[in-house]
Amino acid sequence: MTFNPLTGEFAQRAHEAAFLAHKLPQTRALLGFTLVFCTVFYAAFAVSDFAALGYGPHFLQLCAARGIVAATAGTCAWCAYRTPLPVAATRIAASGAEIVALACFMFIAVRRPGEFHWHAMSLAIMLIVIYLYIPNGFANALVLASGATAAFLALALRFGGMTSADVVTMVMLLLLANAFGALAARRFNRVTREEYEARLQLQHTAARDHLTGCFNRRYLHETLMHPGQLRTSGADGMLTVVLCDIDHFKRINDTFGHACGDAVLRGFADLLRRMTRDGVDSVVRYGGEEFLAILPGTDLDGGIHLAERLRTRFADTSVMTDDGTEHVCTTASFGVACADLAAGAGDHVLRDLIAIADKLMYDAKHAGRDQVCARCACSNGAAGPRLAGLVNTR
Ligand code: GH3
Ligand code: MG
Ligand code: MG
Repeated sequence: MTFNPLTGEFAQRAHEAAFLAHKLPQTRALLGFTLVFCTVFYAAFAVSDFAALGYGPHFLQLCAARGIVAATAGTCAWCAYRTPLPVAATRIAASGAEIVALACFMFIAVRRPGEFHWHAMSLAIMLIVIYLYIPNGFANALVLASGATAAFLALALRFGGMTSADVVTMVMLLLLANAFGALAARRFNRVTREEYEARLQLQHTAARDHLTGCFNRRYLHETLMHPGQLRTSGADGMLTVVLCDIDHFKRINDTFGHACGDAVLRGFADLLRRMTRDGVDSVVRYGGEEFLAILPGTDLDGGIHLAERLRTRFADTSVMTDDGTEHVCTTASFGVACADLAAGAGDHVLRDLIAIADKLMYDAKHAGRDQVCARCACSNGAAGPRLAGLVNTR
């Protein structure tokens, strides 16, 4: 994945969207907390209005302005905490609260024109908060912070009555705050995305078999067999598993060497992955030369059809030996089992189906190898009589 050199965000939109979606729960919690935290401070600064203006209509006006900020930020914080906002809405909430706070800040600054030095320091801190603390897109933060800086400087020149030395110092201070804030935000964006990338890589490595790239047993047990997994993957109809075992594989190792055996394993795994649906079916390396295909939304006929195509394609496939002198080919045996999830299969349906497919695969071995044995494990027999019993396709 590549990064945008200016913002530190992912260059590819799809990667950035996936990252933001992954971070969304954390972003919502952070947004709610930071808005409440900042608003409390913003409101507490009313004591400085009182110190500067004393009690009177001007003080009450500034209190009203601070009240508007508190109400806006409070509403945005409440939305972030309580409602499942999408990413775009969290950005609207963050930017909206920031715009209202900055506008009220400018109003207060103009009402207390003798203290523009202090206002500039307050604005510098607010800029850092906008760049780094309130979760928002880099571009939004940059536009808001630099826009606020320009507006503030215009107001300072118009109402501040400052010496040119004061103005230069103020400009430098605000430039520094913007530059520091933008650079730090860029670095933060980059670091959080690198962490995310490393985490994805680790998850991928932990879930895969190194030789074939198929899912491993750990992933099967910890994720695919998890009781809620079939429901969350939307598998609510038929579920079919195909257990495949390469025939006489040991002979290949013994005759042509393990490197050749590995090539046969990789070839079989590639075939399985190519012939199953990306993102729907799962292919697991179940044992040394045993593979499992999990096919949600597929009935027994579909499973048998796939196993038959696999069987014939694999029997026709050969792997060249390392020295390039011989074509090595073999066959595979298949057990296919199917269940109807809609008929109220239990939480352990996948484990039970694998056990049935395993037994069927051994039936195929005992019947002479290079064949498919299949059975529907539907308790109510709804799949029809042909599927209710053992089906041997050869
Ligand atoms: P059958 O037709 O009954 O299945 O016989 P088979 O020879 O295929 O089965 P068996 O269980 O006797 O042998 C499996 C072999 O697979 C033994 C083991 O050394 C080999 N094996 C397991 N994992 C790997 C691997 O990663 N690479 C290679 N090259 N061989 C492996
Ligand atoms: Mg085996
Ligand atoms: Mg075998």
